[in-house]
Amino acid sequence: MKLSLKESNKSQRTIAKEITFEGQSLFSSTKISMQLLPAEVNTGIVFNVNGTKIPALSDYLNFTELHTTSLTKDDAEVLMVEHLLAAIWGMGIDNIEIKLDQKIIPAQDGSAEPFAQALKEAGITVQGAKRTVVEIHENLYFEQPEFEGRKATLSSNSNGLSIELTAPYPAPINTYTVNYSENDDFEKKVSWARTFLRSPLDPTDLTKWNGIRSVYKALPEDPRQSPVITFTESKFLTPLKAENEPAMHKMLDTIGDLALVGYRINGHFKIDVPGHKFTHLIAKEIRSQLNGQEV
Ligand SMILES: [Zn+2]
Repeated sequence: MKLSLKESNKSQRTIAKEITFEGQSLFSSTKISMQLLPAEVNTGIVFNVNGTKIPALSDYLNFTELHTTSLTKDDAEVLMVEHLLAAIWGMGIDNIEIKLDQKIIPAQDGSAEPFAQALKEAGITVQGAKRTVVEIHENLYFEQPEFEGRKATLSSNSNGLSIELTAPYPAPINTYTVNYSENDDFEKKVSWARTFLRSPLDPTDLTKWNGIRSVYKALPEDPRQSPVITFTESKFLTPLKAENEPAMHKMLDTIGDLALVGYRINGHFKIDVPGHKFTHLIAKEIRSQLNGQEV
């Protein structure tokens, strides 16, 4: 048995009061209303899309071409969950219900900062049950041969979850290695990093940008005004908050996707070439190894 579940000495947590978000979808000008509600012990993170509950677990992953994380159950689905999940996980919350009147999480500024700040403002309630955590007894190795160089190792870490992630990209993004530990301040260290385009724009020809805007209808005409970080082959069109912002955003995405394991992990991940599909595979593999186990 490579993995097992055990009762942690830390208590489960929920938010102290309800939060309401009014936001916008990246796909349209439609306004979205989202409520975050406190939840009972052992609820986990649950989306409630117009009455259908979808647990935030890798079992409900839905494949899309959108380079994002979407969940589905019965006829309901919810798109772009990863930044909100990262904030919930990073701010130490175990039990929460996310009520939506549409099937998409508001994009806000493309980072997890607005979510982290709102959760902090709501405050935390420590609950009367302990967390269940995943213990690692033998290293696990993951790879995706179809994406060159994408590989990861998971080893034991008694201090909770830690991640060392190397994100290699061509200029101007370049290659950075970033680190995160569960004991770090998620809001300060990770939440601010905004999402970015996956390939450069030609500044003299906006055909490609307009093609992207035909899907993501809320993006502005001028790519320099975009909440999604844009760049050409030689420079960024959107000023960065820090030179490693894209790599730190991949850290944010990874934390959000790992939340789909459904338990905290006492483990250290070393990840080369991160990506949503890869972290989905890792979360599914961990859940499959834990299948049938109880504390
Ligand atoms: Zn992202």
